[in-house]
Amino acid sequence: MYSVTNPATGELVEEIPNSTDEEVRAAIDRVHGGFAAWRARPVAERAAIVLRAAELFAERADELAAIMTLEMGKRINEGRGEVGVVVDIFRYYGERGPELLADEPLTLRGGEAVLTKEPIGALLGVMPWNFPAYQVARFVAPNLVLGNTILLKHASICPRSAEVIEDVLRAAGVPADAYVNVFASSRQVPWMLEDPRLVGVSLTGSEQAGISVAAEAGRNLKKCVLELGGSDPLIVLDTDDLDETVKITATARMRNCGQSCNAPKRMIVLGELYEEFVDRLAKRVTEYYVPGDPADPATTLPPLASRAAADEVAAQVETAIRGGATLRAGGHRVPGPGAYLEATVLTDVTPQMAAYHEEIFGPVVLVFRAETEEEAIALANDTPFGLGASVFGTDRERAVRVARRIEAGMVYLNKSGGSEADLPFGGIKRSGIGRELGVLGIEEFMNKKPIRL
Ligand code: NAP
Repeated sequence: MYSVTNPATGELVEEIPNSTDEEVRAAIDRVHGGFAAWRARPVAERAAIVLRAAELFAERADELAAIMTLEMGKRINEGRGEVGVVVDIFRYYGERGPELLADEPLTLRGGEAVLTKEPIGALLGVMPWNFPAYQVARFVAPNLVLGNTILLKHASICPRSAEVIEDVLRAAGVPADAYVNVFASSRQVPWMLEDPRLVGVSLTGSEQAGISVAAEAGRNLKKCVLELGGSDPLIVLDTDDLDETVKITATARMRNCGQSCNAPKRMIVLGELYEEFVDRLAKRVTEYYVPGDPADPATTLPPLASRAAADEVAAQVETAIRGGATLRAGGHRVPGPGAYLEATVLTDVTPQMAAYHEEIFGPVVLVFRAETEEEAIALANDTPFGLGASVFGTDRERAVRVARRIEAGMVYLNKSGGSEADLPFGGIKRSGIGRELGVLGIEEFMNKKPIRL
């Protein structure tokens, strides 16, 4: 069942039955059947359609933002910002796509070849609720320009976002058999992957979903891209403006109510700065992040996506405190029907506690003390995840030196989180396989086919 429950009020808004197996098979048939014609269109035509989609997303930004607020509690301004990023991603691939797909001459030791770049067929996308529009855009924009067709299974709490996205693509000129949204359940995904008409899958979501999809893709010898969870470290080496550093790091952690895969979830602060950093961070999150209605632009702390999500994060915090962690701010569910959790700061989290190793997907910051640069790097790398990381410091050379030693798919200097259309995005270790965005994002489901001349 796809269902929308307003996380700010707990009110059930609507329920939509899952697509039947027959409907899912028909949808697979459509995107498979549509591939030959879509790939045969000149790349300039596909790129023009993707550019048109960018314009239409911009026109429907307010509507899409309001839907995300209702479905998963995103602050309305953040929703508008998310659609802005979507517009940029569609623009980027619409503008750069033809150039990225041009043949590349290869000079061999004994002759010449040309590297051609071709689509591979109909793909399945399985997408999460935390950025309902942005996650879909990262997968869809490059693959439509490349010439692949797409069957999309969105998160079961985001049916209306899924419909608006399909509607925009259709209005932009994407044929009805080149992009199809389906209300499939996660239980239908394994047999969808057995179907030979789908040739690859991209999943953004939890580790568990990633394991399941990767196993099915492997059994069926299909390419998969996985964008999974993270517990990104943020190292503060030094600063000449502690208040500003605290503000930037708190903002990055609390964005999307802490439900961002690449939010800095573990702050690692060098010795002499540590106490002052924790005090100011605790003050900042307590004073600035006040629970409120996500539809009100003045709100700073929206609900989590569901009561179950809020309960789960609260339980992670409680377990850590019982294990000996120190609560420096927040820590409690806000009474009432909404899925609210206070903005929380924990210190003294040790490797004996689950919180040290798990992803905490909510407004919770862990702060660690490191005495040396070496210790900071070791702490940063002591995690099963490897999505992103940040290094803050006044000495750029030193910060780059530290960045090079961090086991992550991407590192930001003196900034944190966020995403840019032309900057590749993805993780290593248990954070995933493959890259989205930038020049790498269009290559994942591409047949890079040399023709020997
Ligand atoms: P989720 O529960 O894994 O759901 C993601 C999608 O996978 C949904 O469409 C879900 O369908 C489907 N799904 C769940 N279990 C499945 C299974 N066993 N087989 C096939 N499909 C399955 O994740 P979420 O809670 O929505 O998202 C939060 C997670 O995503 C966090 O861990 C976050 O860090 C990660 N994330 C990663 C990135 C990245 O770029 N690395 C970006 C955003 C989020 P239903 O909704 O129908 O269950």
